[in-house]
Amino acid sequence: MISTRRESQFLTHTVGRVLEMLKLESTPINTKGYESLLDLVENTSGDSFDLYYGLFMYNRNVLEMLDRLDLAFEDLRKQLFGRLHEVVRKQLFGNAESRKVLQENYNKGHLNGAAALPSRSESVRFQGSARTYEYEAGNSSCSDDSSKLKIAIVGFGNFGQFLAKTFVQQGHTVLAYSRANYSDVAQKLGVSYFSNADDLCEQHPEVIVLCTSILSTEKIIKSLPFQRLKRSTLFVDVLSVKEFPRNMFLQHLPPHFDILCTHPMFGPESGKNGWNQLAFVFDKVRIGSEGSRVSRCNKFLDIFAREGCRMVEMSCAEHDWHAAGSQFITHTMGRVLEKLGLESTPINTKGYETLLNLVENTAGDSFDLYYGLFMYNVNAMEQLERLDLAFESLKDQLFGRLHGVLRRQLFGSSENPQELSEEPSVAKFSQNSAALVSSSSETLNAENN
Ligand code: NAP
Repeated sequence: MISTRRESQFLTHTVGRVLEMLKLESTPINTKGYESLLDLVENTSGDSFDLYYGLFMYNRNVLEMLDRLDLAFEDLRKQLFGRLHEVVRKQLFGNAESRKVLQENYNKGHLNGAAALPSRSESVRFQGSARTYEYEAGNSSCSDDSSKLKIAIVGFGNFGQFLAKTFVQQGHTVLAYSRANYSDVAQKLGVSYFSNADDLCEQHPEVIVLCTSILSTEKIIKSLPFQRLKRSTLFVDVLSVKEFPRNMFLQHLPPHFDILCTHPMFGPESGKNGWNQLAFVFDKVRIGSEGSRVSRCNKFLDIFAREGCRMVEMSCAEHDWHAAGSQFITHTMGRVLEKLGLESTPINTKGYETLLNLVENTAGDSFDLYYGLFMYNVNAMEQLERLDLAFESLKDQLFGRLHGVLRRQLFGSSENPQELSEEPSVAKFSQNSAALVSSSSETLNAENN
C-alpha cells in the first residue's frame, strides 16, 4: 500500500522512466489508457536522475516497493507463460481433435501474422496508410427508418452488452446470443435474447457482430449455422487483434457474406462518458459492390461516426503492429500496477492519478482478453521482453549508483573523485525537484526515523 506522497512519487517516476526507455510513440489509434502512458512519460522525462535517485534514497519503504513491482511483473509473466505451458501440454497430450484445433490456432495466430509483419527491433516503421473516414451526415440519416439495421450480437459479455446499449439507443433492432444465459440483462437493455444459435440465425439479421473472446472466436464461428442466414449477411468482428479474425473469416465464411473487421479502441470504462473522439479502427475486408451491400456497411459504420468516434480506416496488419506497442503495453502496465493494490490518497500527484486511471481502465477486462492480446499478436512477446529489460536497466542505474557511493565510503577520495561526488544532495536538485523536496522535507525525518 502506498502510504506517503514520496512513495507514490517514486512509483510514478519509476513507471515513467521505464516507459521512457521503451521510446513509446503516439500512433493513429491511441487508446485513452495509452494516452495516459504518453502523458506520464512527458510528466517525468523532464526531471533529472538526481531527483529520482533522491526519491529512492530518502525513503526506506521504496526498496520494498521496487521489490513489489518486480514481483508483480514476474507474477504476470508467470500467468501468461503458465497458460502457454498448459496449451502446449494439451497439444502434446490432449486428444487428437484438440491437438488439431490448437495447432491451427497457433499457425493462424502466429505464423501467418509473423510473416506479414516487420519486427519492431528492426526499427522498420509502417508507412502509415491509415486514413480518417469522412462521415457525411446525409449518407444515412438516422431519422429515416431505412437506416435502421437488424443487428445480432454473438457473445453478450462485458463488451457485447456495452455496444448493445448504443445500438438500441440509436433505434436499431438488436438480438443477442451467448453461451451464458443473459435473458434478464438483455430484457433490461431492450435486446431480444436467444439461447440457441439456430433460432438467432432464423431471425435473418442483416449484420452479425462477433463480440466473443479472442480465444473462443474460431470455435464459435465454426459452430454457427450459416445455412439459416440470408445469403448476403454482413459479418463484423470487434476483436482487439485484427489479423487473426480477418484470416479466420476469409477461411471459414461463405464467399457471399461480407466482412468488416473493426476495433473500437475503447471499452466500458474509457467509453463510459460517451465515445466522442475515441478511435474506431476498421478494415473493409470484403464488401460486395452492390449498392445495398455498400450502404449496409456504411450504416453500420455510421453508428460509431454518429457518436463522434474518430474513424480510422487501416489494414488489419497495420492495426496489429501499432497495437502491440501501445495496447499490449498499456494492459501490461495496468495489470502490473493492479497487483500493487494502489489506493487514492488525499494528496495524489497528477502522475499518480494517471497510474490510478490506468488501473481503472484495464481492471474490468478479463484475463482472457489480455491473454488474447498476448497470443494473437505476434509482436507482443518482444514488447514484454523490452519492458522487462527497461525495468532491469533502471534498477541497474539505481543500484549502480549505490555501489559507487559505498565504494567512496570504503576507499575515500583516492578513487575517481568526480563520479563519486554524485552522491544525492538536496542542494543539487533541479528546480522541479527543489519544490518536491521542500514540500515534503518536514516528513522526511519522520519517515526515516
Ligand atoms: P472477453 O473475455 O474477451 O470475451 C467474453 C465473451 O466471450 C463473452 O461473451 C463470453 O460468452 C464469450 N466466450 C468466452 N469464452 C467462450 C467459450 N469458450 N465459448 C463461447 N463463448 C465464450 O471480454 P469482453 O470484454 O466482453 O470482450 C469481447 C470481445 O471484444 C473481445 O474479442 C475483445 O477483444 C473485444 N473488445 C473488448 C473491449 C473491452 O474494453 N472490453 C474493447 C474492444 C474490443 P459468455 O459470457 O456467454 O460465457
